[in-house]
Amino acid sequence: MKTCHRDDGSPVAARVEELATGVFAYIQPDGSWWINNSGFLAAGDHTVLIDTCATEQRTRRLLDKARQMTGTVVSTVVNTHHHGDHTNGNYLTGAATIIGHCNTRKVMIDTGIRCYEQAFEGVNWGQLRLRPPDVTFDEALTLYAGDTRVELRYVGCPAHTTDDVLVWLPEHSVVFTGDLVVNGATPFALMGSVAGWRAVLQQIRQLGARTIIPGHGDAGGAGTIDVVDNYLAFVEQAAHAGIAAGLTPLQLAQDLNLGEFAALSDCERIVANLHRAYAELLGHPAGAPVDLRSPIHDMITLNGGHRIRCCA
Ligand SMILES: [Zn+2]
Repeated sequence: MKTCHRDDGSPVAARVEELATGVFAYIQPDGSWWINNSGFLAAGDHTVLIDTCATEQRTRRLLDKARQMTGTVVSTVVNTHHHGDHTNGNYLTGAATIIGHCNTRKVMIDTGIRCYEQAFEGVNWGQLRLRPPDVTFDEALTLYAGDTRVELRYVGCPAHTTDDVLVWLPEHSVVFTGDLVVNGATPFALMGSVAGWRAVLQQIRQLGARTIIPGHGDAGGAGTIDVVDNYLAFVEQAAHAGIAAGLTPLQLAQDLNLGEFAALSDCERIVANLHRAYAELLGHPAGAPVDLRSPIHDMITLNGGHRIRCCA
């Protein structure tokens, strides 16, 4: 299994890319487990933030950098989905308003902060406190960061999770996708839907965005969508064959040749993705909750029986 290197994954390796005047992406190498991307938008006398980070330390660095680049404080946070690497740091934004999909708020409150410490080692999470969205929406919400139109669009069905939101800046042809697109990391469908996700990727293609800021990994273009779609198609095909052969997801994963996808980080996610694909092919509703213990156990088994190294 490919693991991150502490030098690559250090919080100080994060970098800011100005995509248009006042529109910034915050890219955290190496994009592996829990090391996510964020964004911030200069809005005159305040700043709009897109996602926080997994740990207290990483979020404090993000907020420092946003303040340094925009000269103002964060007034508004948009969450792309509920996962902790995008929301754990919400509480550090103080009086800011947190905006997210109604399911994002619901899942965060239902589950609380989950760090899955049985699965990951080496993480200094800091003193985390739950801070779900204060303002929620069902389908879409438009906000303005100064003059910049920011369209928040719920994707309409389970995909990466059950609460994925695209953050689309039409004037700049920039989309922040959350983890619907990841670049260089293995997609993770356990908490969503493989089939639903593939349909949503078509929505993202249709935006025709010039710049895609993925949830993990470097900025990219349409090609980054194709890699995710190809991977998910691979998972679907493998699950079909595995069910026909009477194999469990773990038995299938242990002998599966990942081919071109072996180069992606976090490749133990294959077995979790197979758990989700099996559930769908066996008729479970898309996005229906699954017991996470077995997929997590299987990922650790694929990782040689060791907890998964995490550089967050
Ligand atoms: Zn996620």
